Amino acid sequence: SNCLEFARPFLAPETQTSESVHKAKVPLKIILVGAGLGGLATAIALAQSGHNVTVFEQTPVLGEVGAGIQIPSNSTRILFKLGLEPYLRPYVTEPESISFRRWQTGNVIGKTKLIPEFTDNFDAPYYVIHRAHFHSALCQKVQDMGIEIKLGARVEDYNPAAGSITLADGTIYTGDLVIAADGIKSVARKIILGGEDMAFRKPGFAAYRATVDVERMRNDPEVSWILEKPALNIWIGDSRHVMTYTIGAGKAFNMVLSHPDGTDPTTWNPLKAVEDMKTEFANWDPVLTKLIGLVEKTLKWPLISGSVLDKWVSEKLVILGDAAHAMLPYMSQGAAMAVEDGVALARSLSKVDSKEQLAKSLSIFEKVRMQRAGQMQEASLLNSHLWHFADGPMQEARDAAMIPEVKGIPF
Ligand code: FAD
Repeated sequence: SNCLEFARPFLAPETQTSESVHKAKVPLKIILVGAGLGGLATAIALAQSGHNVTVFEQTPVLGEVGAGIQIPSNSTRILFKLGLEPYLRPYVTEPESISFRRWQTGNVIGKTKLIPEFTDNFDAPYYVIHRAHFHSALCQKVQDMGIEIKLGARVEDYNPAAGSITLADGTIYTGDLVIAADGIKSVARKIILGGEDMAFRKPGFAAYRATVDVERMRNDPEVSWILEKPALNIWIGDSRHVMTYTIGAGKAFNMVLSHPDGTDPTTWNPLKAVEDMKTEFANWDPVLTKLIGLVEKTLKWPLISGSVLDKWVSEKLVILGDAAHAMLPYMSQGAAMAVEDGVALARSLSKVDSKEQLAKSLSIFEKVRMQRAGQMQEASLLNSHLWHFADGPMQEARDAAMIPEVKGIPF
C-alpha cells in the first residue's frame, strides 16, 4: 500500500462502497498532479463521476506534515457524500463549541456552539483530526477505488494546449485534461498566469504548531479541565492568538500559536523554536503558558495568503486548492476549499456532452469557485485583524459584540 496505514483496519467491508455523485456523460482521461488533501479529494470525486484519473505525486512516500486540522461542516458534508465517513470516523473528534478567550485571563468572551447548531444548520458535523489520519483516509479511499497514484513523479513542465505533463525523467503523459493541485509553490500556476507568479500577500505572521501528550495534561488539575469536553479554545490578544483542540480521537492535544513574524524563514533557528514560543506568549493566561510549557518540540511555519487570481485555467490545464487560492488559516478553510473545488469540478465536468464543451465547463468551474474561494481568502485576512486588536476601544467594541449570554463568564 502507498498509504500510511491508519484507516483500513477499522473498516467494515460493507462500508467501503462509494456513494455515486454526478455521473459524467463523457468520461475523460484526467491527469491530476499532487496527492495532498486537495488532490486526493478531487481524484475521488472525479473517479466517482466515471472519469479515468491518474495521480502524479513528487514525493516517494505519501503523507502529511504538521499535527491537527479542522474539517468544517461544509467539508464533512461533501466528504460523507464521497463515501469518506467510515474512513474518517475512527480518528475524528467532534468538538462541541469554539470558545474565544481573553489572552490574559482565559475568560470566555464569545462562544460558537457546534453541537447541535452546526450539525443542524449545515447537515454535517464539524470535526478535528490529525492531518496524517485525514490524508490516510483519503488515500485508502483512492486505493479502494482503484485510482492509480504514481509516486516519485515530479512534474517539470505542462503543455496546456496538448493536455500533457513532462516528468523530471523526461516522460510525457497526455490526457483530455490536466488538473494541478500542486500546492502554494505551484509550477502550473505560473504557466497559467503566463510566466508571472501570483502576488503573495505576506501579512507578517508565523505559527508554531505543536502537540502535547494528554497524559501529562491529565496529571495537572490546572490544565486537565480542558480535556473534559472536546472543544476548540482560542485565546486572542494583541497581534497573536492560540488555537487548541484534541486530536487522535482524544489522544493528543493540538496547539497552533500564531504570532507576528515576517522575517525570512531561512533565518529561523529550529533549535530555538520551543524557547522562542514560550517568550512570545510569556505574559498570557497562566493556564495557556502552562500548556505551552508542556510542549517538547515545535515547528514554525510562515503564514502566507495568495492574492485573489483572475485566471485558474489555460486550455486543458486547471489549478485548484492552495495552488489557486492559498489563504491564512484563520477561517480553517484552506483544505475545505480544496475539497469543495474537487467536487465542483467533477460536477461541472459531468455536464459535458462532448469534449468540445470542456472549455465551457472549466470556465464555469473557474467563475464559481474563484468567487467562493476569494471570499474565504478575504475572510481569513479579516480575522487577522479582528482577532488581534490590542487592548483598547476596538477590542472592547469587538468583545461587546460577541455572543452576550456567554460574555465575560470565566471558565
Ligand atoms: P498541498 O497540501 O500543498 O499539496 C500539494 C501536493 O502537490 C504535495 O503533495 C506536493 O508534494 C505535490 N506537488 C507539488 N509540486 C509538484 C510537482 N511539480 N510534481 C508532482 N507533485 C507536486 N485548512 C483547513 O481546511 N482546516 C484547517 O484547520 C487548516 N489549518 C491550517 C493550519 C496551518 C498552520 C496551515 C499552514 C494551514 C492550514 N490549513 C487548514 C490549510 C490546509 O493545510 C491547506 O489549504 C491544504 O493542505 C492545501 O492542500 P492542497 O492539496 O491544495 O496542497
